[in-house]
Amino acid sequence: MSDTTVTNRNVTSIDELVRDSYKKISLYSPNRTPAEVDLSDNTNCWGVPPNTTRLIREMDLTPFTRYPNIYSKGVKETVAEYLTDADNKVGIENVVTGCGSDDVLDSIFRAFGVAGDKVVYPVPSFPMIPLFATMNGLESVGVQLTDSFDLDVDAILAEKAKIVYICSPNNPTGTPVSRAAVERVVKESGAIVMIDEAYAEYAGESFLDIALANENVVIIRTFSKAFGLAGLRIGYAVGGTTAVAEIEKSRGPYKVNALGERAAIWSMTEDMDWVNEKVAEAIANRDRLIEELRGMGLSPIPSVTNFVMVPVAKPMEVEAEMRKLGVAIRPFANLPIVGDTIRISVGPWDMMEKALKALKAVIG
Ligand SMILES: *Cc1c(COP(=O)(O)O)cnc(C)c1O
Repeated sequence: MSDTTVTNRNVTSIDELVRDSYKKISLYSPNRTPAEVDLSDNTNCWGVPPNTTRLIREMDLTPFTRYPNIYSKGVKETVAEYLTDADNKVGIENVVTGCGSDDVLDSIFRAFGVAGDKVVYPVPSFPMIPLFATMNGLESVGVQLTDSFDLDVDAILAEKAKIVYICSPNNPTGTPVSRAAVERVVKESGAIVMIDEAYAEYAGESFLDIALANENVVIIRTFSKAFGLAGLRIGYAVGGTTAVAEIEKSRGPYKVNALGERAAIWSMTEDMDWVNEKVAEAIANRDRLIEELRGMGLSPIPSVTNFVMVPVAKPMEVEAEMRKLGVAIRPFANLPIVGDTIRISVGPWDMMEKALKALKAVIG
């Protein structure tokens, strides 16, 4: 027995035991009051893919008493096939999965960052990044995007960080970063470069080729958006074999549950037509939504995703008032570059009509 057990330390308060750095972490708490039309989190407003739904209903549940496959081999195989094309050859050794891409991001930080290492990330972007950095004992520094929402490469390089996070297309702005900027960061930073492509299916463009060609780059994808499976928590990263093997070590063997594993595979093998069709519909409805917002005298930011960011005055009040009318959107007060703004997820056109009607009622 060790003589340094907790009871031997005369601890007077649990506060002495908690990590200092955790005191500034608050729990994720977006307004999740149920709303008739929920356009707040960019998940798939068309629902779970139909064949996957049927296969889940018909599924034999016996395997649930045992552990899922170690390291989700089946998902890796299917992802490798899904991503392989004339230009990119992805093998199972290039893929690592996780409990949502959140978990993959966290595993990447843990795999490469040791206490005190620096993570640099764009601002504004995915708010979980500085939190995951803190959770892993890493220092994090935000670098503002340029006025055209591209990476400020010189400012990123000046930070000399161990890990660089990039989100393209970027959440919450909906904008892509340029290939030239990504290539410069990859070549000149000497860092692990993680490119979050949660919305790649909508954007068309991907940096997968850069991840396969450079050992220090991984892209991160998810089943939570275009594939309609956010509740089942499945994500993955793709990159060079060494980086992927290191992330696999930090990830642990059973991060994807047995149902999520099956659903992810079915969505890629039985529902790709549906996924592609709904992506196309989201893109068409997004462009139509942008036109309607312009017609209201607003200036939405051009988007390559399934959501639209539009500056409005008093976004917190707009959110509260729209919610009373049954429509949930995400407000941002005083966001760098953009200012006061709301983000609206794109779904079937009848949902967009309800959102536009509520927005018009609130801002006149
Ligand atoms: C939605 C989103 C994710 C997805 O997270 P999951 O954990 O896979 O649900 C990751 N990154 C960004 C930027 C997102 O917007």
